Amino acid sequence: MSNVHELTFLKEKIQELKDQGVYRNLPVLETASEAEVILNGKKVINLSSNNYLGFANHPRLKKASIEAVEKYGAGAGAVRTIIGNMKIHEDLETILAKFKREEAAFMYQSGFNCNAGTIQAVTEAGDIIISDELNHASIIDGSRLSKADRGIYKHSDMDSLEEVLKKNRDKYKNILIITDGVFSMDGDIAKLPEIVELAEKYGAMTYVDDAHGSGVLGESGRGTVDHFKLHGRVDFSIGTLSKAIGVIGGYVAGSQTMYEWLSHRARPVLFSTTMTPASAGAIIEAITMLMESTEYTDRLWDNANYFKEKLGKLGFNTGHSETPITPVIIGDEAKTMEFSKKLMDKGVFVSGIVFPTVPKGTGRLRCMVTAAHTKDQLDEAVRIFELVGKEMGIL
Ligand SMILES: *Cc1c(COP(=O)(O)O)cnc(C)c1O
Repeated sequence: MSNVHELTFLKEKIQELKDQGVYRNLPVLETASEAEVILNGKKVINLSSNNYLGFANHPRLKKASIEAVEKYGAGAGAVRTIIGNMKIHEDLETILAKFKREEAAFMYQSGFNCNAGTIQAVTEAGDIIISDELNHASIIDGSRLSKADRGIYKHSDMDSLEEVLKKNRDKYKNILIITDGVFSMDGDIAKLPEIVELAEKYGAMTYVDDAHGSGVLGESGRGTVDHFKLHGRVDFSIGTLSKAIGVIGGYVAGSQTMYEWLSHRARPVLFSTTMTPASAGAIIEAITMLMESTEYTDRLWDNANYFKEKLGKLGFNTGHSETPITPVIIGDEAKTMEFSKKLMDKGVFVSGIVFPTVPKGTGRLRCMVTAAHTKDQLDEAVRIFELVGKEMGIL
């Protein structure tokens, strides 16, 4: 009999990954997350991080982090409900609520935790969660943790959403419509004004996950709700602190009632230790910087528009993105991965994204331009894209 500790069943699954050609090693970053990095020992232009504003290695954030460590230490010591709720965490929530122009903001250790905790806490048996088919994995997982039923509507299709609402309105107590604010693989923005109208027509609540809208859309990066001027009409406005804000964590902004309930029922907060003081300190500094000036978001959009326009002029298909997320759609899966490898060989890192993350035949290089890129770096990246595009017969 084989030894149970050999995990033979996993070894077999790993072999299957290798046979399918999808096995990979995790890339190793040997520098801070910057516009130019050393990845797997090679110096490359980084077009793959979510560090939209260049905050991840910003001197002001690092200084604030160090000060927080000096005052509060390396760890929070407990969950918030016992004795891990430090003054710095309260300060963080206060500034987040102010920034988001909402009554309150409730923080989690990550954006993933925020979805895992909030959705199940605000829904129950007898309710239904209605989700855009392209919503993020953490929304799907969060919904699975809820005892509510689930419905799906076609991506950004308002007729489809209304159909699901009509069919279910009378069968359920509460309805929660959930959408990403910005869809991460294509960079398109949710049709939030229409979603909110429909929600109000059918008496449903709305929940927007703005992981890719926070720090990007709206005044100084206040997000999709601010972008569409829908304050007060979206019940749960989720943001991540790990993408544009450059640190780690997540939060949901909304009413004081929401805050009170979550502080009693959000399981990732009840059963997992609070965010480190260092992270909280850095995030407070980041939000302060955004409230002081639009300089960071302006530079992000300027760089993104510059890069997108140059790639488009060369003849690449950059899809229908409305945000700095810039997909270069190649189509064929193998070709996409080959393109990514050739870019890396020539000094540009862009990860290839293929099925099952995106539909079959829509393989793409997903370029993430940041405020930290210089025009020279972007020009160099475009030059290398052109070179590889011609070499592979795509241009
Ligand atoms: C990245 C992402 C998350 C997870 O955020 P983390 O802070 O990295 O855990 C949640 N929702 C969406 C839509 C995301 O893109």
